[in-house]
Amino acid sequence: MALAYDDTNIFARILRGEIPCDKVAENDHALAFRDINPQAPVHVLVIPKGAYVSLDDFAANASDAEILSFTRLCAQVCTSEGVHLAGGHDGFRAIANAGPHGVQEVPHYHLHILGGRVMGPMLA
Ligand code: IMP
Repeated sequence: MALAYDDTNIFARILRGEIPCDKVAENDHALAFRDINPQAPVHVLVIPKGAYVSLDDFAANASDAEILSFTRLCAQVCTSEGVHLAGGHDGFRAIANAGPHGVQEVPHYHLHILGGRVMGPMLA
């Protein structure tokens, strides 16, 4: 079941061009931009252009084309940001917060891609 989506959230506004973002890459179904409050030298958010609240919503309800485009854009970001493990770099951390227990701030699905330093413990 699709989750109720509030299209006033800040990422929906970025997608509509109402507020700017520091764009890293884009394709038909997904957009990548720098986090406004970076937690690492590389901190990019990858979001679908469709109205999905969280990873579980996206994974259950997005089309194959949307999921493929999103995933490929993640790979493109890892390559362009120089964190691509398969490219001989040092790797990265990918995080998707969901809902109150995940402490999700913006209710539009986004994957954090963090790199450029050794990450700390996973759980906090
Ligand atoms: P969440 O807790 O996973 O929902 O994280 C939301 C992220 O969005 C945080 O890391 C914020 O710094 C980031 N953020 C909020 N507003 C903006 C913006 O306007 N541009 C880029 N990143 C933003």
